[in-house]
Amino acid sequence: MADLSSLNPQQREAVTTTEGPLLVLAGAGSGKTRVITVRIAHLLDRGVAADRILALSFTNKAAGEMQERVKHMVGRAGRGAVLSTFHALGVQFLREEATAVGLSKGFTILDEGDQKDAVRLALERLGFDPQRYDPSAVHARVSHFKGRLEAPNPRLGGVDAVVHHVLPLYEQRLRAMNGVDFDDLIGMPVRTMETDPEVSERWAHRFRYVMVDEYQDTNGAQLRMVKGLVRGHGNVCVVGDDDQSIYAWRGAVAGNILAFDKHFPGARMIALTQNYRSTNNILRAANHVIRNNVERHDKTLWSDHGDGALLRYQRTDNDEDEARWVATDLLGQRRLLSLNWRDFAILYRTNAQSRVVEDAVRQADIPYRVVGGTRFYDRKEVRDLVGYLRVIANPFDEAAFRRIVNYPMRGIGDVTIQRIGDHARDTGEPFWRLVERPDRVPDVGPKAQRQLVALDALLRTFRARFPREPFGEVCRDLIRKLDFADALVRVHKQPRQVRKRLDNIEEVASALAAFQARRPDGSLDDYLARLSLDTRRQEDGDAGADEISLMTLHGSKGLEFPFVYLVGFEEGLMPHQRVLDGDGELAEERRLVYVGITRAQQHLTLTGADRRLKFGRISRRRPSRFLDEIPEALFAGGRSGAVPPPSEAERAEKNRSAFDEMFASLARDG
Ligand code: ATP
Ligand code: MG
Repeated sequence: MADLSSLNPQQREAVTTTEGPLLVLAGAGSGKTRVITVRIAHLLDRGVAADRILALSFTNKAAGEMQERVKHMVGRAGRGAVLSTFHALGVQFLREEATAVGLSKGFTILDEGDQKDAVRLALERLGFDPQRYDPSAVHARVSHFKGRLEAPNPRLGGVDAVVHHVLPLYEQRLRAMNGVDFDDLIGMPVRTMETDPEVSERWAHRFRYVMVDEYQDTNGAQLRMVKGLVRGHGNVCVVGDDDQSIYAWRGAVAGNILAFDKHFPGARMIALTQNYRSTNNILRAANHVIRNNVERHDKTLWSDHGDGALLRYQRTDNDEDEARWVATDLLGQRRLLSLNWRDFAILYRTNAQSRVVEDAVRQADIPYRVVGGTRFYDRKEVRDLVGYLRVIANPFDEAAFRRIVNYPMRGIGDVTIQRIGDHARDTGEPFWRLVERPDRVPDVGPKAQRQLVALDALLRTFRARFPREPFGEVCRDLIRKLDFADALVRVHKQPRQVRKRLDNIEEVASALAAFQARRPDGSLDDYLARLSLDTRRQEDGDAGADEISLMTLHGSKGLEFPFVYLVGFEEGLMPHQRVLDGDGELAEERRLVYVGITRAQQHLTLTGADRRLKFGRISRRRPSRFLDEIPEALFAGGRSGAVPPPSEAERAEKNRSAFDEMFASLARDG
């Protein structure tokens, strides 16, 4: 049952206004996500079939959490409702409409490395010098245009003129591999819905109620996707906060939320004003920072959680000291306030900062997880094994084929691989067919031919086994058969290094087994599709485990923690150096800081270092300008950068429950 009594009147109105377009525009922690989940429960209560309900969010983590909350409210009745990310919905669309879109079944989602390879090959073929036109930069531009469903203007010259020529070859190459990139997951469904009347009709009525969380971060293509999905009925409810728009650099358009009623005529708007997450000192800090942005919907956050503890700001000599200070302080605070590990989060601006922090918390024996970070699936040895899985699932996946054809080494040289590639391109035959019949490729020696045929046979064997046997076991056999252990020993001299990598490889088998346990009817394809979408976060790690969380500010969107450390509060990180160099918007950096501050429920600590190791060089640092935007009086000990020791009164409190009003007022007075 949806418990409407747990909502305030505006939230209730948002939940029960089910027909027509609705925008909930409200500040951080005001219950927007809660509105979406209760709304789903409410629709189910009213007898709407679960599979007519769609809720979209941006990360798998967010979609997963929504799923949990709905399950908690309605139990099994919620099964069948689609709670998904935009990209995962795109995958589903392409699966079902593969023919209409022009893909074959079992298409592959190419990862960023493969996409860049495709760009590099296109550059080479066109005779552009990859030294001069960096494939990564060109790829970023390709994605820029694809994400917006726009074409570059060749007359403007510069890199865009190059992109203009690269794009068609790039697309051609992806299709030849039966592959798509991330942008295609949105772009292809949009274009198909906009041009194919039959498909359009199907999807316009597929879902009866569509909801979007974090709507401020949608881009132009995603807006068009939503439009296509609600064309039949217009029942679309979006929730968001313009102050938390942090993806303009990736094409998010603030206008999507600010001009919602232009895109969806007749839209109603509901504002939520009360924050349920944080204490007022934290909210005051957030309000003061964000107020410096012009062009925003003016809102001021408040809650009835009292003033709460003051903020703290600690400055250290260097980044390692900073990380150590945080780890030590965290241990002390956990004891003082009787908190669990999971109540703590350490947030940073860039992924690169995580290493120092990880080292420090590991030293201090603090259990931790990196949310959305290390990218387990980006490790070389993992990608090698996943390469095999990809080829097994989709023989057309040429990028994966090239990766594995001579790894572990089987005496097939680069020249041979090049010849097969060239021959494939010249004749239009798929790469895999030439692996099967290498005798058709000129100048491939008999030994290499034998090896290729053997590889083809091996792949066929495993292709046949996967649908029939438990994934985990088949994968373990594959690892053994390929003798990854031997291949690793050749490269890594130290047994520890080999062990670590073998552990990672075997972890894939465990992940496959776990996937099958969760989704007994899921195919290897499904697993790989998930994988490609999950590369931005660590799939492993049990969400319920008692661990502190480490993540970037971007990754922290939508989450909340009782105790938050915001580290690296310095010029060059917040705002990011890129912005100081004139690339990007200061206002977006401020919104990012606002997102960080508003993750904290009861305690917020900012830290910064005077010196930091960057690209192997010591750089001198200054405190973030955003520090000056927070009133001095909100900090225990002011902005001096030295956190005062806990007062006697606080110490006396340590055995009592941490967050009652009593503590809050003591902290305020002391
Ligand atoms: P963000 O902008 O950070 O995404 P949000 O607006 O989505 O935040 P929620 O995460 O939905 O906010 O809610 C913030 C917290 O407040 C959650 O812990 C939620 O359970 C709680 N909350 C929301 N509404 C109420 C309410 N009416 N009564 C009590 N608690 C509430
Ligand atoms: Mg939210």
